[in-house]
Amino acid sequence: MSNKKDQSSSADNNQERMRKQRRIVVVSSLLVLVLIASIFVMIFKDQMANGTKPEKKQATHRTEQKVAINYQGQPFTGSSNAPVRIVEFADYRCPYCKLFEESVVPRLQKDYIQTNKASFYYMNYTILGPGSVLAANASEEVYHQNPKAFWSFHTALFNAQGDEKKEWVTKALLTRIAQKTVPSLDIKAFENALDTESHKNQINSDNQMAEDLGVQGTPTVFVNGKMIKNGLDYDVLRDAINQALKKQNH
Ligand code: CA
Repeated sequence: MSNKKDQSSSADNNQERMRKQRRIVVVSSLLVLVLIASIFVMIFKDQMANGTKPEKKQATHRTEQKVAINYQGQPFTGSSNAPVRIVEFADYRCPYCKLFEESVVPRLQKDYIQTNKASFYYMNYTILGPGSVLAANASEEVYHQNPKAFWSFHTALFNAQGDEKKEWVTKALLTRIAQKTVPSLDIKAFENALDTESHKNQINSDNQMAEDLGVQGTPTVFVNGKMIKNGLDYDVLRDAINQALKKQNH
C-alpha cells in the first residue's frame, strides 16, 4: 500500500512539476509578447513624433520669420511721404470693421491723415464667405477704374452693410453703390469684373499676406508694420501711432 502510495505521490510530483513548467512557458511567452508589443508601441510613437515634427518646425519658422507688408498697388489715403503707415485688414461683411470705419477712421483722418503724419491703407482679409469676396472684388475694381473714387465707394459700402447672418452682398447692390459714388464708372467693365472675379489674384495675395503676418481676425491694424492688439480702441491706436512718430523723429 505504502509503495503504491509512494508511486502515486511520485506521479503526482511529476504532474505538478510539468504543470509548473507549463506555467513558466506560458508566463515567459506572455512576457515576450508584452515586450514585443511595447517595442512596437515605442516605434509607432517615435514615428508619430517624427511625422509631426516638420509641421511644428514650419509653424515656428513662420512666427520667427519677419514678414514685411507689401504696400504696392494697395488703395491708400493721405500723403505717400507720411512717416507713419497705418494698414487695416478688413472684410466688408464684418460688423467690427463697420464700427472701425465709423468710429476710428474719422479720428485718424483728423488727427493724422489730414495733418500728413500718417497714410492709411485698406487691405482685404475676406473671412466671411462668398459675399466678402464679391464685395472685395467690387472695391478692387473701383480702385482699378478710378483710384480717387475708391474711398467714397468703400465708405458707402460699409454704410450699406446688412445683417451679418444674412447674405446681403449682391451684384445689384454693389453696382448701385458704384454708380452713385464713382464718377464715369464703366458699368459693363464693373459687372464683368464681378462676373469673372477678375481681381481674384489681388484678393488672394491680400489674404495670403494677412495670414503670413499672423492676422487672426478683422479688423486688424498695423502701424509701421507692427500689429496693434485691440486697434479698434482709438486710445490704443493713438498711442501706437504717437510712438511710431517719435521713433521717426529720433
Ligand atoms: Ca488689395
